[in-house]
Amino acid sequence: EKFKKGLAKTRNSFSTKINDLVAKYREVDEEFFEELEEVLISADVGVHAVMELIEELEMEVKRRNIKDTKEVREVISEKLVELYYGEDDEEEVEGLHEEEGDLTVYLFVGVNGVGKTTSIGKLAYQLKQEGKKVLLAAGDTFRAGAIEQLDAWGKRVGVDVIKHNAGSDPAAVVYDGIQAAKSRKADVLICDTAGRLQNKVNLMNELSKVKKVISREIPEAPHEVLLTLDATTGQNAMSQAKTFSEATDVTGIVLTKLDGTAKGGIILAIRRELEIPVKLVGLGEGVNDLETFDAHAFVYGLFA
Ligand code: GDP
Repeated sequence: EKFKKGLAKTRNSFSTKINDLVAKYREVDEEFFEELEEVLISADVGVHAVMELIEELEMEVKRRNIKDTKEVREVISEKLVELYYGEDDEEEVEGLHEEEGDLTVYLFVGVNGVGKTTSIGKLAYQLKQEGKKVLLAAGDTFRAGAIEQLDAWGKRVGVDVIKHNAGSDPAAVVYDGIQAAKSRKADVLICDTAGRLQNKVNLMNELSKVKKVISREIPEAPHEVLLTLDATTGQNAMSQAKTFSEATDVTGIVLTKLDGTAKGGIILAIRRELEIPVKLVGLGEGVNDLETFDAHAFVYGLFA
């Protein structure tokens, strides 16, 4: 239901166009596939992924001897799910890794304005609702206002925030966060970081310093490095994903503002081209508007 609501814009554009196509063409032919290709590309599914999808659709349609475009709709949704999972046969919902009975550490990375702080706040709220003790570390010491903003989220959702002054060393904040989390027996520590992209070497150095501080204290941590991307920025999000995944081992994507775009197809492109799973999606500005990504629910949401 949440996916359905949050995907309204993508669905309206996507589903309407596909329905129009189905009505217009009735019979599956070359032109039908050509127009379908355009619809998918305009939803930001990504050119490579679309080519692949169309090719597979054409084969499947031949194999099953499908003539009626109405039946193709079914095949399209099947293939979209397959497109997301690629070689992965499991088709599992990939939630966040959690350490049972031990401290779990999540590191959030991403550029300003993508919705990083908001996502951290929402996640903290949800984990707290599940009965977990959560702590936040204000590791974005660079952007003016970032510490206060995270602090405000902490107050809003009732979670403590470990912070230093603006301009201080992010690694030191994160170190303090871990010590506090350990002594307070927290279940989850969520660390914010600054996402300066101007200089890749700096970004790499800063992130690796923060990661080192964490893994020195807890060898398996951080358990997730979550890159936050803004779905409304389309191909920009793709290039950010490339840069960050070159700078550090990103374990999952948090894709925000899906509710604000008709180009939700970006999810498929990211997973396909960068082989990074989308773990969480932002579907609005409220505390409850963060969902674990589920490709079946997503594709269903596109057509429902
Ligand atoms: P940060 O600079 O990356 O920390 O970004 P913020 O967390 O401050 O978010 C920037 C803006 O995006 C804020 O106005 C948020 O309310 C908004 N935002 C974040 N996530 C979502 C989302 O999933 N949907 C919508 N509609 N807005 C969002």
